[in-house]
Amino acid sequence: MYIVDLLDGKKSRLSFEIFPPKRGMPLEGSKEIIKEMAALNPDFISVTYGALGNDSDNNVLLAKEVSNNGVPALAHMTCINATKDKIARELEILKKNGIKNILALRGDKPKDGSEVKSDFMYASDLIEFIKKQGDFCVGGACYPEGHPQAGGVEKDIDNLKKKVDAGCDFFITQMFFDNNILYNFMYRLLRAKIQIPVLAGIMPVTNVRQMKGIIEISGTMLPAKFKAMVEKFGSNQDAMNQAGIVYALGQIVDLIANGFNYVHLYTLNKPSIAKAITESLSCII
Ligand code: FAD
Repeated sequence: MYIVDLLDGKKSRLSFEIFPPKRGMPLEGSKEIIKEMAALNPDFISVTYGALGNDSDNNVLLAKEVSNNGVPALAHMTCINATKDKIARELEILKKNGIKNILALRGDKPKDGSEVKSDFMYASDLIEFIKKQGDFCVGGACYPEGHPQAGGVEKDIDNLKKKVDAGCDFFITQMFFDNNILYNFMYRLLRAKIQIPVLAGIMPVTNVRQMKGIIEISGTMLPAKFKAMVEKFGSNQDAMNQAGIVYALGQIVDLIANGFNYVHLYTLNKPSIAKAITESLSCII
């Protein structure tokens, strides 16, 4: 099943993102998480790829586990630290394991500023390479507020066009907490004649520590109502859990009510959150 075939505008779609365990940790816990998530019948589950391309074995094993549970798998892949030979080998492994969908990313540069060598400069180079190597459906990342290194949203959109020209079949957005940011971005895509499907990345924020990490990673703008929620409930874990889920549901309902059909949930490997959200949307998606 190619993910792009699910994105035909006829139906709303809900998919999940999970991440593999840390290096050296057993995969059993992740397999249990996949089983619980698969039982919720998402349209697909994506599996992230270790920073700097580390631990790609676990990425494939878990993507395979997703499809063994009867759910289409989307394997993330980054190129920041990769040679063409390495990527070609990984594509062969994905093919052998029946994985047909890849989210092609550049990856983040090392935090300590050290240089990494790569045969690929940008995600668009990786997308082009994958498309030439085989019959894969390939997605890419996009940033409604502009990627932090792009030097502005408009420049970033010019670069997104390069991903589309390289063969990108769909985009998944970085998380955002104000839907107007996404609606604005969609207008800019329209103006740039970028017409591939876009999936909204929604992150239910259920604890304060997590929120600090989010700002660091994504630099996303936090609206006043989001900050008020954290201020009021942040010190009560159970309340914050409920509030974070309700906030994410509010975003999703608003998106669907405004004709935006596709939602990709950053589950943080928590089946209970995926379950609460899926069940609350049972008559909506
Ligand atoms: P690119 O598309 O290459 O863009 C990077 C920067 O370069 C942008 O500023 C862009 O505007 C600019 N640019 C692009 N092309 C050009 C060009 N031709 N000329 C000049 N500038 C250009 N990271 C992981 O390590 N593992 C994961 O599994 C993972 N999953 C992710 C999933 C999603 C949905 C998202 C949104 C991000 C994910 N990331 C992941 C993080 C991602 O790797 C980083 O955000 C990274 O900094 C950029 O990746 P990219 O694919 O968007 O890069």
